[in-house]
Amino acid sequence: MEGGVYVCGWKRGRTKYALWLQSHPQIKVEGQNYNEAHEALSKAVCLQLGDGEAVFEFDPPLPKSAIERKYLNPEIVIVSGGNTACDATDVGVLFTQGVCKKCHRPVGERTAEPLVIKSIEPGSHGGFISHSHIVFYSGGFLNLLTAQEQNRFEWRKVMLEGRSKKVFYEFIAEKAIPLVPVKGLIFQTWICGTCNQQMPWMHYGILKISHFVSSRDLSARPPSCFAVRMGNVPELGITRVRWRALVGRPETKGLLANDIGVVLPSEIDRDAPVYTEEVWRKLSEEKNNRWNILRDRWLKSPEVEAMRKNPRRTFNDIYEFIHSKVDKQLAFRKLNKEFGYPEWDRRRQPS
Ligand SMILES: [Zn+2]
Repeated sequence: MEGGVYVCGWKRGRTKYALWLQSHPQIKVEGQNYNEAHEALSKAVCLQLGDGEAVFEFDPPLPKSAIERKYLNPEIVIVSGGNTACDATDVGVLFTQGVCKKCHRPVGERTAEPLVIKSIEPGSHGGFISHSHIVFYSGGFLNLLTAQEQNRFEWRKVMLEGRSKKVFYEFIAEKAIPLVPVKGLIFQTWICGTCNQQMPWMHYGILKISHFVSSRDLSARPPSCFAVRMGNVPELGITRVRWRALVGRPETKGLLANDIGVVLPSEIDRDAPVYTEEVWRKLSEEKNNRWNILRDRWLKSPEVEAMRKNPRRTFNDIYEFIHSKVDKQLAFRKLNKEFGYPEWDRRRQPS
């Protein structure tokens, strides 16, 4: 199986970083830093288990940078079907306004129709539908949740065209917490000109947190499970403490947790730019061209030369360093100062 999710342990010594698979403790690697160890673990899993696209889930979670810790209070994650993308027979009937012909995202409210999946990877206890990102979980995973946790949401039985021993349930939530852009960080999104829907706010940068919510929407003491709105569909949010009680159980196989940042309402960037898809594409192309030029320039710099000579530095370290130097210059709002493309008027979009 390619793209499997592997639960890993880690240990950080004074000069070494060790990583290993919980399910195969003999697959253990060491590096002089995390990036080096991570590269070695990817290689080992590729060679020994034949999985060249392995994804690692760390329990306990890896140490965070000071800036990441600032945003991880309280610590919450989204638990999803990781890499298990599936096709549904007809997503169009699942939403009152069908599926957008241009961006393929569902439009309108969820109808009473059940989700029908063509087939699912046998090992996984969860997955998502390509394009629409509807998420579903196995009955086994559902049973790990308390009745109170289950009752916060609707779990609608999924129909399977192919054979499967497992039963799956679609995750449906009436109320879901919206994503927000954050001041001082780089966010990108675009509006589909056909359905007027905005793609989920996503952070681009060196922080390993892609999505953020407001503490006001989450409440001071979040329940152990809640829903986060990703575009037009909900995803399952769980407190880190609760997820740690579940991760590693057989019924969580194939599931992956991603940190969600939490910010105060005053930290939300209410002026973060939104563009149409056409403008977004033009800016993306410009950004990629400039990144290539700047990256090549930095690769020849004395700082990178010194990093290359240091055996403790990896390619990843070098790319992180270059990103830290150039990402701010490549932020869309900064780039667009030169071009002056119109921003989407956010008042036209109900948030
Ligand atoms: Zn659309």
